Amino acid sequence: MVQATECLVIGAGVTGLACAAALRDAGHDVLVLDKGRGIGGRMATRRVKLDHGEISFDHGAQYLRGDNPRFRAALTDAGAQHWPGDGNRDRLVGVPGMSTVPRRMAKGLSILQSTEVTALGRSDLGWRVHSTGGEISARRVVLTIPAPQARALLTAEGASVADHLATVQMAPCLTLMAAFPAGSPRPFIHEPAPDAELSWIAQDNSKPGRAEGVVTWVAQASADFSARHLEQTPDRLVDLMLPLLAARIGGDLQLALYAAVHRWRYAQAVTPLGQPFLHVPDRSLYLGGDWCLGARAEHGFASGYAIAQDMAGQADVA
Ligand SMILES: Cc1cc2nc3c(=O)[nH]c(=O)nc-3n(C[C@H](O)[C@H](O)[C@H](O)COP(=O)(O)OP(=O)(O)OC[C@H]3O[C@@H](n4cnc5c(N)ncnc54)[C@H](O)[C@@H]3O)c2cc1C
Repeated sequence: MVQATECLVIGAGVTGLACAAALRDAGHDVLVLDKGRGIGGRMATRRVKLDHGEISFDHGAQYLRGDNPRFRAALTDAGAQHWPGDGNRDRLVGVPGMSTVPRRMAKGLSILQSTEVTALGRSDLGWRVHSTGGEISARRVVLTIPAPQARALLTAEGASVADHLATVQMAPCLTLMAAFPAGSPRPFIHEPAPDAELSWIAQDNSKPGRAEGVVTWVAQASADFSARHLEQTPDRLVDLMLPLLAARIGGDLQLALYAAVHRWRYAQAVTPLGQPFLHVPDRSLYLGGDWCLGARAEHGFASGYAIAQDMAGQADVA
């Protein structure tokens, strides 16, 4: 059976959620699809069970900031708090994990999780979307996935936007998550080091509401290091990155209670599009994401909201 909806939003990251919520608030019928088991895309929290209890890592977005009043209001509604000890009152985080923010933004939306879109094609009604959960027919589709993945999904019908998508460059990011026993060194809350192989290191358990008793670190490799080692095995990546972390924090890597690396193939835009969204000429297919305007969550939010505004202004276009 083919499911039908007026507006189908593909991707339940901050872009898709901002768009879907604004469309719903404007009275539209909206369905959101995401291939992930969780909500939030790159605003992600990994939970791990250890003998000591459950610990967590924000292995995607580290903190949120932005001047966009709507984004700030959404963060307040989602219970985001300042990162104490950070000294910069502009940095907000989800509590007890970053993924709380998108999960709260998703409240009241119809979302199909673990459903991957595999192809898009025109139909009499608008678009026919093929997914691992079956076919969905939609008058309008909003694609909010990283630009290179969006490009791979487009067929001849999306040719008018494919050239624009090709101008967007996104860099990978290998992210190490490591836990050490309580009492191990904590030389800093976070340390950016743009020229180092680990270009960002943060003590994740210093954020509010995280489990106590274990010291958790998140370390992001530079874009260059990530590109060079992207296809290494998970064990090899830990072997490469854990000693780099231990050297920077003065920790004994033999004491690590947990270590794993997440491979973000499309982490952040290095060359954004430079406009809030793309659409096909009849505005039945829109493309948006953080990559339109920048590399941060606030850029995704602004893109998603702008798409909904444009769609509302074009409500009569089938
Ligand atoms: C390591 C790292 C650190 C970062 N640090 C920060 C930071 O400190 N501050 C900040 O503001 N931003 C940061 N960012 C960027 C921030 O996470 C992103 O800007 C934001 O989350 C992008 O949201 P989005 O909705 O555009 O895309 P995504 O979050 O990528 O959402 C896209 C969604 O689409 C889904 N999807 C993809 N393909 C398909 C398909 N075929 N079918 C169905 N679903 C699909 C995915 O599962 C995903 O949930 C960081 C990102 C990374 C990776």
